[in-house]
Formats: sequence, structure tokens, C-alpha cells
Amino acid sequence: MASTMPAVDLHTHSFCSDGALSPTDLVLRASASGVKVLALTDHDSVAGVPEASAVAASQGMRLLPGLELSTLWNGGSVHIVGLGVDIAHQALVDGLALQAVARGERAKAIAMKLEEKSRLSGAYEAVLALAGNEPDRISRTHFAQWLVAEDKVGSMQAAFDKYLGSGKPADVPMPWVALPEAIALIRNAGGTAVLAHPGRYPLSRTKMRALITAFAAEGGEAMEVATATEKPDMVRYLGQLSVQYGLEASQGSDFHGPHIPWIQLGRFPVLPAECRPVWRRWVSLEEEEAV
Ligand code: AMP
Ligand code: MN
Ligand code: MN
Ligand code: MN
Repeated sequence: MASTMPAVDLHTHSFCSDGALSPTDLVLRASASGVKVLALTDHDSVAGVPEASAVAASQGMRLLPGLELSTLWNGGSVHIVGLGVDIAHQALVDGLALQAVARGERAKAIAMKLEEKSRLSGAYEAVLALAGNEPDRISRTHFAQWLVAEDKVGSMQAAFDKYLGSGKPADVPMPWVALPEAIALIRNAGGTAVLAHPGRYPLSRTKMRALITAFAAEGGEAMEVATATEKPDMVRYLGQLSVQYGLEASQGSDFHGPHIPWIQLGRFPVLPAECRPVWRRWVSLEEEEAV
């Protein structure tokens, strides 16, 4: 019964990164959707965790403090989710401060490129407002939202394809933390390192396996298997890889807000039966079946 219930969602965003909802509204919406165990995993930030924890407690939900680190591997960007981290751990706080500075600087550089190469002005002021006037929170998502609102493109996807994606006119290479250091930051803060959405990188299956091999060799403990936008074939394949590489399996929606209606809290494919759920570290089977 429990495996078919949308009770455990371990990948979500609030407006502390590129999500649309406040941590409070995210938790309330998760609760209303039947989610009992929720991880808040904002990009390169744990700022929303205290608020989310307080609201979750009032709802009788379990909130795992988390984040989604942007990292570099093999010249590309790979996301590592950290679950169950101590958000006050000094090395993690310091590492996140570096990522935040890089994010703020990149936003200015992207805006400059949009202006110089594509004659699009006013981007910086607009994305800063979209990010709640917090430069550290500006994401390419905010640029994509602005490009759509200005009718420069017809969709978020088109904004990445035409301007923001790797190798496109407003691409700005980022000094994100390297993958091994990212795993260490999470683990030293008491957290569990989870390779995020392995099927979503522009990698061949051979390269994907190389990534999973490197991740496991560096101490990574789990990988996402069931995420909202993954096709059944990919979910099955990722389930097999998790078993083969001895990694625990995670699941989550990667919810960013109600404005993306095809991704909803607690809604994603069922984890294949052979997988070892990473959330057993925090939630026993008895507890899960009781909810
Ligand atoms: P950033 O962390 O600022 O580099 O922004 C990355 C975020 O942009 C991801 O977390 C997604 O939410 C979003 N994103 C990336 N690629 C796409 C895409 N093709 N279409 C829509 N959103 C995307
Ligand atoms: Mn995002
Ligand atoms: Mn991601
Ligand atoms: Mn995400």
C-alpha cells in the first residue's frame, strides 16, 4: 500500500531558490497533497529550512532539511541533493556562501550578455525583482521567466534553447563546487548525498554510468530513481543501476510551483521494488505504513 501513496517527496523548491512558493505555502500544499515526509531541497541554499520545519511540525509532517548543490563534473554541471544535513554546519555554510556569490555575479554577466549579444535590456532589474530582491537567489529560471513574459520566447524550454543553455549566447560558465567536494560538504554536515535526476543530463548511457561510478567512488550514497518527468523505461533503468552500483534510491517531484501544472507534489512514478529506499535512514517501514 505505502509504495503507491504519494507520501514521501524528497526533492522540492521554494522561493528561496527558483520555486514560486514560500516555504510555508510549499509545506501546506504538500500536506494537502497527502505528503507525510518532505525534503526541501533549494538550489545551493538551506535558507527556507527553519520556516519549513516549523510549519511541517504544526502539520504533523516530517521535514528533512535538504538542498540541491550545483556541482561540476567532467566540464558539465551535475546536481547533488543533500538530505538530512545540519544546516548550521560551518563548512556547509561557507561552501554555500561561495556558491551564492557566484550566482549573484553570474546574474549580472548573463544580463550583460543578453544586452550585448541579443539587444535585450532590463534583464537584471527584472530577475532581481523575480528573486525577491535577493541577488544570491537569482537562477536561470528567473531569466527564462522574464524572457517568456517579454514575449522573446514561447516557453521556458525555448529560453534555454535560444539564450541560456550551455553554449548559447547568454551562457556563463560557473565555478560551482567540484563533485567530490560537494559530496564531502554534504556528508561532513551529517547528510546523505544523492545524485539528482541522472537521466536528465546531456550524457550518453556510457557517460551516465561513468558519472554514477565516480559519484559512488567519491562516497555518494544514493541516486534519484523516480522523479516526476522521467519516462517508465528510464525509471526501470535507473532502478537497475542503483542496485548494480550499491546505491540507495530516492524519489521526488522536483516541484517548482503550481505554475508548472504537470509537476505536482508527491506525484512521480513508483520506485521499482528492487530498490532500497534512501528514506529508511529516517523513516521506518512501520512508520511509513502507519501514515
Ligand atoms: P541555475 O541553477 O540558475 O543554473 O538554473 C537551473 C534551473 O533552471 C534548473 O534547476 C531548472 O529548474 C531550470 N531549467 C534548466 N533547464 C531547463 C529547461 N530546459 N527548461 C526549463 N527549466 C529549466
Ligand atoms: Mn530549479
Ligand atoms: Mn536539478
Ligand atoms: Mn531541483
